[in-house]
Amino acid sequence: MSKAIVSIISGILLMCPFIGYGEEFPGDYAKGPRFRLLYYYDTEAEVAHVEFAEQTREFIHLLSYGEGFLYDVTTSLEAYPLDSLKKYDLIVMANALPKTPQERADFQRYMEDGGGWVGFHASGYNDSSTNWPWLNEFLGCGTFYCNTWPPQPALCQVDMKGHPVTKNLPAEFVAPACEWYQWNPPVTENRDVDVLVSLSQSNYPLGIKDIMSFGPFPIVWSNRNYRMIYLNIGHGDLEYTDATQNLLITNAIRWIALFPKRR
Ligand code: ZN
Repeated sequence: MSKAIVSIISGILLMCPFIGYGEEFPGDYAKGPRFRLLYYYDTEAEVAHVEFAEQTREFIHLLSYGEGFLYDVTTSLEAYPLDSLKKYDLIVMANALPKTPQERADFQRYMEDGGGWVGFHASGYNDSSTNWPWLNEFLGCGTFYCNTWPPQPALCQVDMKGHPVTKNLPAEFVAPACEWYQWNPPVTENRDVDVLVSLSQSNYPLGIKDIMSFGPFPIVWSNRNYRMIYLNIGHGDLEYTDATQNLLITNAIRWIALFPKRR
């Protein structure tokens, strides 16, 4: 067969990507469960945290294209008592946490009853002033210990290959600039926690002003006692510039949304 004919046939095949997809491969789109998501963020947070939160709102909107799922957005949980929270399959929080004792109690009950949660960055911030012991138990770690500064990219490693959240991620990738947090004790000491992604220790010393130099550095994990995932990602307006990290975030939201309720 001449090169010209091969070229023409190849061209036709490229223009007809569905040739060969017969009855044995019926389309299975439109079969995903149509879940409900509540997105909560805090407009009173520091500028870099609001920047990320605004971009996350847009990211969620793009994921919902075609009304694949329904979502609401709020900057306050005041109007979301427990009965309202229960209407949602998951709550996504970007750099925000429940504020009042009632909001905390309702969120705790929502999670204890099998609700879903995807939390970013400062949504895992807790220190001695936070005075919310359940949040520590929920996250699976101690209180906030320190952060790197300034925000910078870092080499990440996938710790749990084959998990739905790390599906199709490379073994290592460089995450966009972030202010990275550590807690004491870290979640690596908690047997109920699956650490999915960590910063590679080859990053050390990491930072210029505030420098981290040792220890495990988990940044994405799930406490198996809840339907939750926490991602330390979430500082500034560069977080959604990397396809690998975008895939990680998409996988995380998808997993919590579609993960069967345990209780
Ligand atoms: Zn931050």
